[in-house]
Amino acid sequence: MGERRRIVLKMSGEALASSASDETIDAIVVERLAAEIAETRGELDLELAVMVGGGNIWRGTTGAGAGMDRATSDTMGMLGTVINALALQDALEHHGQPTRVLSAVQMAEVAEPYIRRRAIRHLEKGRVVVFAAGMGNPYFTTDTSAALRGAEIEAELLCKGTHGGVDGVYTADPRLDPTATRYDEVSFMEVVSKDLRVMDLTAITFCMDNGLPIRVFDLMAPGNLRKALGGDPIGTLVR
Ligand code: UDP
Repeated sequence: MGERRRIVLKMSGEALASSASDETIDAIVVERLAAEIAETRGELDLELAVMVGGGNIWRGTTGAGAGMDRATSDTMGMLGTVINALALQDALEHHGQPTRVLSAVQMAEVAEPYIRRRAIRHLEKGRVVVFAAGMGNPYFTTDTSAALRGAEIEAELLCKGTHGGVDGVYTADPRLDPTATRYDEVSFMEVVSKDLRVMDLTAITFCMDNGLPIRVFDLMAPGNLRKALGGDPIGTLVR
């Protein structure tokens, strides 16, 4: 048996929200994404870990901007990601995909604690691992957490699925500048020096330092996930 490819998928919390209503988590959207994840993992026989964000529920900076203690506000954000992780686990298991939620904040009744070697073991057994609570520290994002976990579990690729209609890395914000063009491939250095919007700088420099390439693609268009995880040239590759 050949070695299976190991990939981390970063999914924003907002990808689970409804575009049609004000639902925080839209069960239909979650079902659809889970179906695609389960099917793709099986077909490509991947070792797949998912880092789920929490922006649909709470962002640390929102509270901090309103005068809350930043660390407390960030903790609220981390707890939001746990809610999303459970929704995703539930939907993945509906689709026959065994899934384990590993939380960076201890929550024994709800999820296993994140233990690196246990995460790897689950992956080797064909389970999808959903990382909850980011990396467990305030002042960080789930993008940076995805990069960190990717390096820890020695993933070969970090797939960053977008949800706002921007399908890769552009020379400028395509929603504001109609002349903006998309890169097929771009270096970490260029992303940093031109301040291109991909992930936060901490995540980018971490990936650069640790040689973890990032594929940025539009997660919401059906079929895209399969292409991204399969290594097809979709969206933008940052390396
Ligand atoms: N967060 C944190 N530490 C982490 C990961 C996340 O403090 O390791 C908090 C942070 O406040 C963040 C919130 O959780 O705003 C939700 O995560 P994020 O904004 O990355 O979610 P996304 O934008 O991907 O939905």
